[in-house]
Amino acid sequence: MLKLQNIDLENPIDISIPVSFGKKQLVAFDGPPAKRHAYKAGSFVGDVRHGGSCNCEVYTFSPHLNGTHTECVGHITKERISVPNVGLIMVTLVTVTPKNGLITGAMLKKLEPIEALVVRTLPNSKAKATRNYSKNEPPYLTADAMHHIVKLGVQHLLVDFPSVDKVDDAKLTAHHIFWQKNAKKKTITELVYVPERVRDGHYLLNLQVAAFEADAAPSRPVLYKVKR
Ligand SMILES: [Zn+2]
Repeated sequence: MLKLQNIDLENPIDISIPVSFGKKQLVAFDGPPAKRHAYKAGSFVGDVRHGGSCNCEVYTFSPHLNGTHTECVGHITKERISVPNVGLIMVTLVTVTPKNGLITGAMLKKLEPIEALVVRTLPNSKAKATRNYSKNEPPYLTADAMHHIVKLGVQHLLVDFPSVDKVDDAKLTAHHIFWQKNAKKKTITELVYVPERVRDGHYLLNLQVAAFEADAAPSRPVLYKVKR
């Protein structure tokens, strides 16, 4: 049983890439960049720099395209299902080196059964946080790798690339394998960034998903070290 005093609550490790609105920002799948503009109504302008009484901006973005996001089975169903609230859970962080972009089951063989898994890929440059993925072929999970992840009992999977599937896999094979059983409780989080200094191992995970009635929402996964 995990005891509160064994968790390093004072040093949260944020593994999110925020949705940002500047020139240099992450874009996946050739999508449009995230944008914002000040809300205007009559004489009101939602920008203090332009005489407004407060800042109030309108944002245009997609959780799937512009930053770390958590998605649920609603991503692949006709039925509209919203991303669930996930409590505090134990997670294993593992680092792999994709071979020709592929992450295979064999690379994950040493893992023990776990409720949640973070897959970090090498190389792990900070450029991941602002990458335009239309110019870079991202890594992905083979069907075999996803079957293995399901077998481990993983309910919440986090990866540092735009999709668990190959970008041009219209069948979304790995997504479908993951959500075959117990689907409504399970989530996939894509486009995390795990800093270099964070070591592979076990952590407590606070997934922190924004309250959206949608198949996906921006998220800020935070890891806490478990002291021995
Ligand atoms: Zn996805």
